[in-house]
Amino acid sequence: MTQRPSPLHVLLVEDHAPTLAVATLALRAAHHVVRTATTLAGAHPLIAAHGRLDVCVLDLGLPDGDGLALLPLLKRRAPPVAVVVLSVQDDPPRILAALASGADGYLLKDDMGLQLVEAIQHAADGGMPMTREVATLVRHNLQNAARVAEPCPLTAAERDVLAGFARGLSYETVGEEMGISINTVRTYVRSVHTKLHVQTKTAAVLRALRAGWIPAPPPRDP
Ligand code: CA
Repeated sequence: MTQRPSPLHVLLVEDHAPTLAVATLALRAAHHVVRTATTLAGAHPLIAAHGRLDVCVLDLGLPDGDGLALLPLLKRRAPPVAVVVLSVQDDPPRILAALASGADGYLLKDDMGLQLVEAIQHAADGGMPMTREVATLVRHNLQNAARVAEPCPLTAAERDVLAGFARGLSYETVGEEMGISINTVRTYVRSVHTKLHVQTKTAAVLRALRAGWIPAPPPRDP
């Protein structure tokens, strides 16, 4: 297993001269074929040209615009070019937007180090190279999306009971508001505990609030 992976054809789009120099050196040292551009305008002809292009390492903040503007061109090539964003921009909406627009990976410049060589190989092999913070962000985002999509096992009446508790109402008041007896309220609560696998009213309310099954109560007067 000493065989070296075959050289990749890589386009580096980066306007920060020191980063470009380090990235170019690292990739050439790993025997990859590297071309560079420092602007969108400079990258366009290199992407449009015939010839092999496996991976594009893409900065987002370029002097003449947003690096993501190149994504459609890169993905329209046959075969599509794997795109690894290399950016200082670590705000979650920006990262998620880049990945949603089709970037295959996202590295933060802070963490570039030797990762770049591994990352472009990984991207060329169909992987999604990400700095650890980026991967954590993506995982949380997916988990939140899954939680929101979690189907509600409760009936409308059971949700009304929990919503009443969330507003601080007693069993008795909840029953009065809903026009049912306190025993019926207790029956709903037992059913909710069974369905949600919780032991207490508070745990049930919190679970329903977090899942978005009941509305958040209005803030109380101080
Ligand atoms: Ca930049």
